[in-house]
Amino acid sequence: MLVFEAKLVGTNEQYGKLDEAIRTARFIRNSCLRHWMDNKDIDKYDLSAYCAVLARDFRFAKNLNSMARQASAERAWAAISRFYDNCKKAKPGKKGYPRFKKEQTHGSVEYKTSGWRLSEDRRCITFSDGFEAGTFKMWGTRDLHFYQLKQIKRVRVVRRADGYYVQFCVDQERLEKREPTAHNVGIDVGLNHFYTDSDGQTVANPRHLRKSEKSLKRLQRRLSKTKKGSKNRAKFRNKLARKHLKVSRQRKDFAVKTARCVVMSNDLVAYEDLKVRNMVRNRHLAKSISDAAWTQFREWVEYFGKVFGVVTVAVPPHYTSQNCSNCGKVVKKSLSTRTHTCHHCGHTQDRDWNAARNILERGLRTVGHTGTLIASGDIDLCADGETPPGKPSRGKRKPKK
Ligand SMILES: [Zn+2]
Repeated sequence: MLVFEAKLVGTNEQYGKLDEAIRTARFIRNSCLRHWMDNKDIDKYDLSAYCAVLARDFRFAKNLNSMARQASAERAWAAISRFYDNCKKAKPGKKGYPRFKKEQTHGSVEYKTSGWRLSEDRRCITFSDGFEAGTFKMWGTRDLHFYQLKQIKRVRVVRRADGYYVQFCVDQERLEKREPTAHNVGIDVGLNHFYTDSDGQTVANPRHLRKSEKSLKRLQRRLSKTKKGSKNRAKFRNKLARKHLKVSRQRKDFAVKTARCVVMSNDLVAYEDLKVRNMVRNRHLAKSISDAAWTQFREWVEYFGKVFGVVTVAVPPHYTSQNCSNCGKVVKKSLSTRTHTCHHCGHTQDRDWNAARNILERGLRTVGHTGTLIASGDIDLCADGETPPGKPSRGKRKPKK
């Protein structure tokens, strides 16, 4: 699924109507949740049937396109089934009991294949359901021309601090060609550098991000000093929300560019399978920033890995920094020891570099041997001093006439 985004340009009156649609979508999602809380044994089909009841009982609910109503019910069900899943898997910590959505700066409403219409030149979109938001000009829709109309499966209207956006979800998988580079890499994330790879190369932490985060904190303090319900507070809230938007865009930009670069120049990328959930609680500012950036970076590495056909492996993070990457023996060290010095073989290396080499080694071992004949090591191979016959499965097949 590809997603294209464009900014919607319209009048304040039109934006107000989009607000109504977004509010209604939220109302339906929350109502469905309430319905589930009161009758726990219902399933997603019951929720979708409940949409019709809501549309009958509330006039404004009927204004929303019927497929958009269904999409809102599906959202509620997604939250419920995620909760069920977490319970079934006995996930440690909170299980994510579904919560009601509150009125916020950001919000969205999702249409499927009806309730909207593109203009002939695809520069404008018209929303044609009961809210009658009308026609908007779109900024940044160049990419939309390459796809057929029937490939657009969903259209989402997203409200952010700096305006209204439309997202088109196009039913097409992105696959691209890439020449093999004959190079594999292991990556270790740290505080001193964003990451260190198994060749000893480092990528610095994005400094501009740290700066933005600092001014974010400052704005947050200013906001907390304003009086509740005052105009000044509303002003600062918008300012803060815009700043948040900017930081998240910067972070995404950094993640996308760095991830694409790593994937393009390697055939296999190995990294640690970190449980960031536990780490974000850390009070240390620098750490929580790099954690957030790291999670996003990892998601993009995995995405580009799929697009470009590059193997990505998340290895269990145990002992990656403690083992010697040269002889494999355990060399105990505290967090403050920055250099790895092995007293078994005398190997000396930067701590993170040593860890990155261990990660690559583990990645190559755990990546699996799909479709191979021998699963359990080399014991059988050595038994009678002979190599096994090639492709034994072929021999069993009946010869063709
Ligand atoms: Zn060693």
